[in-house]
Amino acid sequence: MKKLLDLKETGKMLLDAKQIALAIHMSPDGDAIGSALALARVLRAYGKEVTIFVDDIIKGFKFLPDIKTIKIDADLDKITEPLHFDLLCILDCSTINRIGRIKEKVLADKYLNIDHHISNEGFVDYTYLDGDAAATAEIICQLAKAMQWTVDKQTANYLFTGLYTDSGSFAYSCTRPETMCAGAELLQAGAEPHKIDEAIDVMDKDTLWLLTKALNTMTFDFDGRLAYMWVDREIYAAKQKSADTDSFVNYPRRIEGVEVAVFFKEVDENITRLSMRSKKIDISKIALLFNGGGHERAAGCTIHKPLKEAIADFLSVIKDRIDN
Ligand code: AMP
Ligand code: MN
Ligand code: MN
Repeated sequence: MKKLLDLKETGKMLLDAKQIALAIHMSPDGDAIGSALALARVLRAYGKEVTIFVDDIIKGFKFLPDIKTIKIDADLDKITEPLHFDLLCILDCSTINRIGRIKEKVLADKYLNIDHHISNEGFVDYTYLDGDAAATAEIICQLAKAMQWTVDKQTANYLFTGLYTDSGSFAYSCTRPETMCAGAELLQAGAEPHKIDEAIDVMDKDTLWLLTKALNTMTFDFDGRLAYMWVDREIYAAKQKSADTDSFVNYPRRIEGVEVAVFFKEVDENITRLSMRSKKIDISKIALLFNGGGHERAAGCTIHKPLKEAIADFLSVIKDRIDN
C-alpha cells in the first residue's frame, strides 16, 4: 500500500531505523549529493549507520567534505550478494530507474522516497513529495526544522549546495519564498555561499574541449524557438571520465528567442541522454513520453537509440507542442 508521508512521519521513519542506506540518482548533481551528505550527517549524529550509494562516478563537488565516503559504481561492482538495511531512502529521484543497480544490490525492510519532481510516480511504499520545492535540499531543510535537528556549518554547506544548484543561484522559476528563507537559515547556520559558488563555477580543460565540440553542433528549428546541440559517442568517449556536461544545456537555453533547449549526449551505441530546458511549455511531459521525468522547466530522459534517431524522435514529439 502506497502512502504519502508528512514531514514528521518522514523524520520518524528515518529515526526508527538503525542501518540506513541513502540512494541518489545517476549523473548525481549538487542537489542529490548535497541532500544525501546533509541527511547522512544529521542521522549519524543520532548514532545511525548511514551509507550513501550512487550507481555512477561523481564529477566535481570535491570541495564537499565526506564526498569520498559515497559508494560509487565501482563499489557496487564489488557487491555480489545484496546488502540489507533497515531502510533505503531514495533522494531526488522521481523513478526507480534513476538509481540503477542499487535497486538489486541494496535491499531494505522499508523503502522511502524524498523528492521534489512533479513527475514523481510514487514508486515505493512511503513517499514525501513536494513538487513545489526548488530542491530536495529545501525539503531536507524543512525536515530538519520540523524534527528540530541541528544543522551545523558543514550540513548547512551541503544543503546550500543543493539549494543553490537546483534553483540556478536562487534565480530559476522554481525559486519560491521558502527557498530564500531556507537559504537565509542556512546562512545563519554558517553556510558559505561565496566558497560554494567559487568551487562550482570552474570548468576543467576536458569539459571546455567537449563544450567547444558541442557548441559547433548548435542547431535551430521552429523559427529559432528550439535550439539543440549534441556530442556523439566518439567525441564523448574521448573525455567521458573527466568532462562534466551538466551545464551544457544552458548554452542553447540562453540564446535569444529560444523557448526549448536540448543537449543530446550519445553515451553508448544505443543510448542517448537528453537534457531539456523550457521557458514556456511543460517539458517534463516530453520527458515522460520517453520514460524520463523532471520539472516543468528542466527535465531529462534517456532514449535507447543512436544519436540521430533520438534527435528525430524528439523532433517528432516537440513539433506539435512548440507550435501551440
Ligand atoms: P538534467 O537535465 O540532467 O539537469 O535534469 C533535469 C531534471 O530532470 C532534473 O531534475 C533531473 O532529476 C530530471 N531528470 C533528468 N534525467 C531524468 C531521467 N532519465 N528520468 C527522470 N528524471 C530525469
Ligand atoms: Mn537532481
Ligand atoms: Mn533536485
